[in-house]
Amino acid sequence: MPHSPTDIRRAVVAQKAQVAKLFDELRAGSLDKSGLGVTRDTYGAGEQFGYRVIEAHARSLGLELQRDHAANLYMTLPGRDRAAPRLMTGSHLDSVGNGGNFDGAAGVIGGLVAQQALKTLGLTPACDVTTMAIRAEESVWFEVSYIGSRAAFGVLPDGALDARRVDTGRTLAEHMTECGADVAAVRARKAHLAARDIKAWVEIHIEQAPQLIEAGVSVAIGTGVPGNFRYPEVRIHGEWAHVGLPRRFRHDAVLAASDFALGLDEIWQGEDAAKRPMAFTIGRCFSDASEHALTKVAGLMTLSLDVRAYDKAHLAGLERRILGLTRAIEAKRGVRIDLGARASAEVAPSNPALFSALTGSANAMGLKSMPLASPASHDTATFTVAGVPSCMLFVRNANGSHNPHEAMEIDDFLDAATVMTHWLAGAASA
Ligand SMILES: [Zn+2]
Repeated sequence: MPHSPTDIRRAVVAQKAQVAKLFDELRAGSLDKSGLGVTRDTYGAGEQFGYRVIEAHARSLGLELQRDHAANLYMTLPGRDRAAPRLMTGSHLDSVGNGGNFDGAAGVIGGLVAQQALKTLGLTPACDVTTMAIRAEESVWFEVSYIGSRAAFGVLPDGALDARRVDTGRTLAEHMTECGADVAAVRARKAHLAARDIKAWVEIHIEQAPQLIEAGVSVAIGTGVPGNFRYPEVRIHGEWAHVGLPRRFRHDAVLAASDFALGLDEIWQGEDAAKRPMAFTIGRCFSDASEHALTKVAGLMTLSLDVRAYDKAHLAGLERRILGLTRAIEAKRGVRIDLGARASAEVAPSNPALFSALTGSANAMGLKSMPLASPASHDTATFTVAGVPSCMLFVRNANGSHNPHEAMEIDDFLDAATVMTHWLAGAASA
């Protein structure tokens, strides 16, 4: 029997106090030592704490619990046909250092809220409905993206297990083992998840920019997760020289790095004007501290580059232009630009049918929503690339993410959970 939007809203909103308490409990137990934000370090004490809280809550809801070889947690509301491809939702439980309480956790708690609402409505789904609490999404810790979700699909790249955590200096393999993972199975690329067993994946996540605040809308439906290419260590080799050297003799690495940054910004402005979404970030940029000085022309600058966009051909075109930019700077400044190692991730567009279904659910619930391209990376990309129909639901959030000031309103979060519940109720009766 189909459930009315009023019943669905009531079943979700009834959980408001419980949800607020759960977020508070997560925050209190993973407070950063600065006392401002939270630190749920990847395969470390903070993330482990998150798992204890979420697991205890899922157990109290009577969900089936399961862990995989990467210590991801699956919380399942059993369906009538246990063998049928299941519906999945969830997000990650780790955070950046001194980050916010909602990035990641909102998607895990959102799934649990929807599952509890389905139970309240007395709905036994046709297939299993699973919330996945994912490990190690934040790439700041090991500088490897989507560790938990890619390990679950058996596609974590070679060498990832040997990556060292930036703060502890210890390997991913060591950290995983401590958290109960079976590293041999990860290394052997065992797959716990396969696309054929998953009917659809939807991830709730806070928005990481103020676009929903600007639009006055609580929920957005994601159009896709961008692909990227990255050059973690670009080296611009100029020539160290004394300040007395006239301009025409200089090969100044600082000026070349500035040309590079401003050249990229010019490309971005053009793409913005042409409404082709992209983003570039130079997250690190430094000279050699052992050589640089007040009275020296810099001979070396090292920087990182991350470029992302939503279309494969667009991304390839951007990379060609950036390579052209480096050659032009080399000629202009008499420097040599060594791009170093390259990493990349595929573009992951949302499934069109799922995008429409979620938009329809928002409409049915009387909620204004909008399509949103969010430039951040998310585990959803792993599901999409594996061939699972996937989409994201974004929740309005002031002050961005990855900082202590994330400000998601619980009412906005419940709006997203309402859309999720409406969609699940429909998809799980089909
Ligand atoms: Zn996140």
